[in-house]
Amino acid sequence: MRPDTPAENVDHAAEAARLERTAGLYPEDAEALLLRAAAHLELSGDRPAATRLYDRLLSSDTPSAPLDNPSLVRALKASNLWEYDHEAEARAIIDGVRMAAPRDPAPWVIVAEALESHDELEAAHETFTEGARLLVADAARPPQPTHPLLYGRHRVRRMLGLEHDEWDALADTLHSMPVSLDELHDPKRVWSLGSDDPADLEAEISRLRAELGAYRQALSRPFPVAMLHWPAGELAELTEAYPSLSAEYPSYDDHLASIEAALRELASSGTPNLGVVPGTVPSYEAFAASEGASPADPTLLPQYATTLAARGLAVTWPPQPGTACWCGSQRPYGECHGA
Ligand SMILES: [Zn+2]
Ligand SMILES: [Zn+2]
Repeated sequence: MRPDTPAENVDHAAEAARLERTAGLYPEDAEALLLRAAAHLELSGDRPAATRLYDRLLSSDTPSAPLDNPSLVRALKASNLWEYDHEAEARAIIDGVRMAAPRDPAPWVIVAEALESHDELEAAHETFTEGARLLVADAARPPQPTHPLLYGRHRVRRMLGLEHDEWDALADTLHSMPVSLDELHDPKRVWSLGSDDPADLEAEISRLRAELGAYRQALSRPFPVAMLHWPAGELAELTEAYPSLSAEYPSYDDHLASIEAALRELASSGTPNLGVVPGTVPSYEAFAASEGASPADPTLLPQYATTLAARGLAVTWPPQPGTACWCGSQRPYGECHGA
């Protein structure tokens, strides 16, 4: 089984259209689906279409059917608007997000990074700091979702040439990548414009851009790359109804082992936001019908996984230490597939 969404070879416009169709089928999951559709539209370059989706979500936010995370939608809308020269509108929305003081780190990070990427370093610093003050407080071990606030703040402070403070020191200890934050955010790498070799400099700048780009994408698109998991009964039913799929799934144990192996490989290649998403035969058949395709077609499986993940049904991999394995065995992950 392949994971969903190999980022480079996706037809973003088609993917967006498919997610919008799926949102029509599952109105209760429309928010997650349309946010992901908008992300694909942004990646396709059709930013006005992405704005229309953000607006559609925001106009659906009513007291009887409130959005789960209106600040996240506004932050993404502002970030998108600024990318196609709607700066004044973007700034007004960013001010509104800051005023609303959301309790979720993601909108803070998205608006701070929008400011940062348009060279508003002071405002980006203030925004990261406001978010951190609200959500990190002085916890010795801040929750994982708040780490990007501390990393972003650390990065901007390095760019501004500020001394480390307590939160910067905390960011350094939380960061577990092979390259330290101090090296990653070293402003000399950006400011070494005295270099004689323009090729060097250009390479350095594009590397930094790629780093920031990959980071932004991982962060502002919190959609897992999900592996499809068929529980034992579902897998038996699936391969009996559609024998052509047996080639993908020689046995249940093999199915589980290959999910774990694929996730470890993706993790070791640096893919963020990994997950496992359980499938069921009836929902798979409904998905195939909505795509006008036969469930026997194995190329449908990754698309099905993407759609389930986009509906918010994936569980994060690897499981937190001490929690149950993703496979449903009820044993701790460390003693099951994490062993
Ligand atoms: Zn540091
Ligand atoms: Zn397991």
